[in-house]
Amino acid sequence: MPLQTQNSESEKPYSDFIQPFLIDHSSIRGRLVRVGKVLDDILGAHNYPLAVSSHLAEQIVIACLLSATLDKDGILTVQTKGDGAVRFIVVDVMAGGIIRGYAEVDKARLKKANKQKLSDLLGKGYLAVTLDAGGSKERYQSVVELAGDSISEVFKGYFLRSQQGEIAVHVALRAPGKTSTHWLAGGIIIERMPVEGGKQKEVTKEEQDEIWERTKIFMRTLKDNEMLGEDITPQNLLYRLFNEDGVWVYKLQHLKAGCRCSRARIRNVLKTLPKEELLQSLDKDGKMSVHCQFCNKRESFSRADINRLYRKTVKSNA
Ligand SMILES: [Zn+2]
Repeated sequence: MPLQTQNSESEKPYSDFIQPFLIDHSSIRGRLVRVGKVLDDILGAHNYPLAVSSHLAEQIVIACLLSATLDKDGILTVQTKGDGAVRFIVVDVMAGGIIRGYAEVDKARLKKANKQKLSDLLGKGYLAVTLDAGGSKERYQSVVELAGDSISEVFKGYFLRSQQGEIAVHVALRAPGKTSTHWLAGGIIIERMPVEGGKQKEVTKEEQDEIWERTKIFMRTLKDNEMLGEDITPQNLLYRLFNEDGVWVYKLQHLKAGCRCSRARIRNVLKTLPKEELLQSLDKDGKMSVHCQFCNKRESFSRADINRLYRKTVKSNA
């Protein structure tokens, strides 16, 4: 069966995308994710040990795999938090495919820790997925205990506990090394949704089971170098994997690293604090700086800047 597309999206780029898809005549939907520049930008803003960067990269892929259903203004946050040398890793994906993330690390403790396994780095704790749909819509959070040696394993537990239906997920990661100075990661998820009638009713339960088993087997044939192969378009990759049953691809979503912080936002937060408190926090040069942990940028404020904040407030209220 030829690949069916629902849009005329060009086949590029081959990296930094989410490609949603659907297996024909089934209740199986999936997403294929590949991130390169996104990882270079986010990880490059920090100087984490390799193991921490790797887990953060994997968490970015997982967050992207989960985020394809975000509406305008929606934000999906995946946070792992524990009592270990890495206190937490947090990743936000905003509608429009803007991603940010960081890890909070106790460097002294990390030196003594076994640096490979997630359980050794994070210790006991939990993984929380929060969907803030934006506007006045409700916030939804789901939490699962940290159990497993990688974020992907923890995530499988999360899915089993909090979602209906079954999933299969695979993540591949390549850290900078001899062959490349860049980060590259990819992931694929397939989900079997509960059948609610409609088109799928034409297919019996047994046939649905067979398609699901077959789709999982096809997915397992995907090699890491194919998932990370930037010369393969997502459409071609999906066709290679699932052409026996047929695969529909939806509009490709582009991804990029970005932060929501801005000087204007920080100003708004500072304005809510007492002026005296801000003036007391000025250093000997008469400056204070506010640090964004996500993008690692600093914004500096002088005494004059602080005075101006409050003058503006008075004016706007007048
Ligand atoms: Zn920032």
